[in-house]
Amino acid sequence: MLASPGTAVDSHCPYCALQCGMSLTRPRADATAAPEVQPRDFPTNRGGLCQKGWTSAAVLGVSDRLVTPLVRGESGELEPVSWDVALDLVASRLAGLAAEHGPESVAVFGGGGLTNEKAYALGKFARTVLRTPNIDYNGRFCMASAAAGMNRSFGVDRGLPFPLADLGGAQAVLLLGSNLAETMPPAVQHLAGARAAGGLVVVDPRRSATARLTGDASSGQPAEGVHLAPVPGTDLAVLLGLLHVVLAEGLADRDYLEQRTTGFDDVARSVAGWWPERVESVSGVPADELRRVARLLAAAAPVHGGAGAYVLTGRGVEQSTQGTATVTASINLALALGLPGRVGSGYGAITGQGNGQGGREHGQKADQLPGYRKIDDPAAREHVAAVWGVDPETLPGPGLPAVQLLRSLGTPTGPRAMLVHGSNLVVSAPNANRVIDRLKSLDLLVVCDFVPSETALLADVVLPVTQWAEEEGTMTSLEGRVIRRRAVVAPPGEARSELWILAELARRLGASEDLAFPTDPAVVFDELARASAGGPADYSGLSHARLDADEASGGPGLFWPVPAVPAHASDVSDTQVTGVTRTSDTPEHPGTPRLFADRFATPDGRARMVAVDHVGPSDEVRPGAPFYLVTGRVLQHYQSGAQTHRVAELERLVAEPYVELHPVLGFRIGVTDGARVRLTSSRGQVEATARWTDAVRPDTVFMPFHWSGIGSVNQVTTDATDPISGMPEFKVCAVDVSVAPTE
Ligand code: SF4
Repeated sequence: MLASPGTAVDSHCPYCALQCGMSLTRPRADATAAPEVQPRDFPTNRGGLCQKGWTSAAVLGVSDRLVTPLVRGESGELEPVSWDVALDLVASRLAGLAAEHGPESVAVFGGGGLTNEKAYALGKFARTVLRTPNIDYNGRFCMASAAAGMNRSFGVDRGLPFPLADLGGAQAVLLLGSNLAETMPPAVQHLAGARAAGGLVVVDPRRSATARLTGDASSGQPAEGVHLAPVPGTDLAVLLGLLHVVLAEGLADRDYLEQRTTGFDDVARSVAGWWPERVESVSGVPADELRRVARLLAAAAPVHGGAGAYVLTGRGVEQSTQGTATVTASINLALALGLPGRVGSGYGAITGQGNGQGGREHGQKADQLPGYRKIDDPAAREHVAAVWGVDPETLPGPGLPAVQLLRSLGTPTGPRAMLVHGSNLVVSAPNANRVIDRLKSLDLLVVCDFVPSETALLADVVLPVTQWAEEEGTMTSLEGRVIRRRAVVAPPGEARSELWILAELARRLGASEDLAFPTDPAVVFDELARASAGGPADYSGLSHARLDADEASGGPGLFWPVPAVPAHASDVSDTQVTGVTRTSDTPEHPGTPRLFADRFATPDGRARMVAVDHVGPSDEVRPGAPFYLVTGRVLQHYQSGAQTHRVAELERLVAEPYVELHPVLGFRIGVTDGARVRLTSSRGQVEATARWTDAVRPDTVFMPFHWSGIGSVNQVTTDATDPISGMPEFKVCAVDVSVAPTE
C-alpha cells in the first residue's frame, strides 16, 4: 500500500551502486504524481546527492513512458495490445521454438539494475520454466573481472568487503580506473583522510575530475596526492612495478604474508623483472613516480605504523582482456602490504550499476545459482533444486557469457529468441553494430522496459514495466549492504512488475502449480533467502520485515552474509567467511560489515596470491588506427542514457556526445576545437564534437558512452573478452581520428 500524500518514505536513488539514501514524498492525492526527492543521511552519501539523484523523480513521468504492451504488427510498427494478447503471443512463440529447436533456443538477458527479487525470479524462470542454460546479464560488462579476481584470491566476491565509510580514516588510497568524482560524487567525501595526508593516488590515462582531486603542482598548494597517467591498457604493468618496488625495498608485511596467504614466492618471482625503468618504458609512468607511490602506500600500511591504506579498482582497469589479471595484481599488492581483513585497510572494487552487487548473487549469471553458488557444484544444484521443488537433474548447466551469447544469437546453433530485462544492448554492448545485427536476426525479441529504448525499438514485443519508486524490493549496495526500495507512487497505465510478467508467462508455458512464481516481492525475497542459505552470499537471516525493522530503529541496512540463526544457541558457529561469532544472547545474526578479519573464504582460510603478467590490450595501435580510444561517463548521464536523456535538466547540461583530444593532436591532424570529428575502428565509425583539452594524452582520445546512433561509441569498441571473466575490453581500442566529412 502506498504511503499517504505528505508522508516521507525512506528509499534510495535508482541509479548507481552508491544507492544514496533519499526521502520520497508524494505531494498530492494523485497516486501517479512524481514524488519530491530529498537526500537523507545514509552512510554512503551522508546527505549528499548528485544531479542525477536530485532529478530522479522526473524519470517516472517521462512523456514517452510505456503504458501498454506493444506488438509489432503487419505494418511493421509496434502497436498497442492487451496484456493477454501480448503474453499469449510470447508464450506460444517461445513454446513453439523450444519444441522445434530445443530449450536452449531461448535466451534471457538480465540487468544489474534489477532488484534482488527480480534477478532471482529471472534466473529461476530461465532454468525451471524455459530450462535454458542461456541466461546472462549486463553485469558481465560491469563487474565480471572484479568478481573473478576476488573469487579466485579471497574465495568470495563482495565489491567492498568493508563499509565505504572506513575509507575516511585511510592515510592512502590507490584508485585505479575509477572516476568517482563524476560517477558517484557523494563518495568523494570518503577520500578526505587520504587527501589530507597527501595520499590519494589516481591511476587514469586521463586527468579526470577524480584525478584532479590529487591537486595541481603548478598551483602552489600542497598536493593531495599523485596522478599517474599510463598509456591506455598498461595499468597491469604499473601494478607489477609497484609490487616490485615494495618487495625490492623490503616494504612488504612479511608476517602477514606468512600467516595469511599462499603463493607469495611465485608472485615475487613474477614481478622481479618489472623494475621501475622497464615499467616506465611500457607505461610511460616515470620510474621515480612509481617508487614514490609504492613508498607512500607502504608508509600508510599498518605494518609500518600508518593509519591504513586501500587499493581500489574500477571499470577503467577491469574492462580489459587482462581485467582479471589486473584485479589479481591489485589484490597481490594489497596482500603484500598486509591490507585485506585489517580494519581501516583493504582491497575493493567500486561497483557501478545500482544493483551491480546483488545482481550477480541471485542466479541471473550464466554460471551461478542463487546465494552466489556455482551452477556446476552438485551440492549447490541439490540445495537450490530442493527450494524450487524440481529435480536437480533437470537444471541446465552453465550457459554462455554475455558477449559469446550475443554473438551466437540467430546463428544455426544459437538462440532464436531472447527476453531482455533491464538492458539497452543496442547502446551498451561492445561492438554494437554486430549486436544490432544479431538482435535483428532473431525470430523473436521481447524487451521489458519502461521507455522505448533503442533495444525496445527493435523488438517484436515490448512489455511496459514498473520502475524504482513504483515498486517494493531490495537492492545490495557496492558494500554488500542489503537495503529496501519502497513504492511511493502507482505505476502509470498498464505498466506491471517483471515479477508479475514472469508469473504469467510461467503459467502460460505450463509450469506446474508446485513451481511457484509469487508476485509479492516480500514473498520472493523469503524464497531467495532460503535458496541463498549456506552460500557465500547468505541472505537467509533477512526478510523485508527485518530490514524494515532495522531501518525503523535507525539501522542503515545489513551486510551479507546474514545467516539464519539456528534453533539452538549451541548450534551457532562462526560463519565461514567472516569469523563473526554470535553469542546465545544475540537474537539474530548481526550481518557482516567487514569480511576476512580472521580468515579468507578459501578452504585453508588463506588468501591466494596468483602470479600474473602484462600482455597488453587486444587491439594495439598501428598504422591505420594509430590512437588509443578510452571511454567513460559524464556526471549527468547514466549508462545508455535511456533514463537521463529524458530528464530535461540533465539533457540541458550535456545534450551531445563529444570527443576529448589534446590540442597537440588536434593541430597535428587538423581537428579544431568544436569541429566535427570522426573515430574509425575496424568495427565501425562514430562522430561527435571535438573538445580540445590537455586532460588527455596526445596519443589518446576520450569519448563518453551514453549516446546512440552516430554518437554511439560502442560501435567502435572491441568485443574481445577477458579469458577468465568474459568481460569485454570496453576501455581501450585502437582508432583513427579525422575530421568528419561534411554532408
Ligand atoms: Fe547517489 Fe549514484 Fe544516485 Fe548520484 S547516481 S545520487 S551518486 S546513487
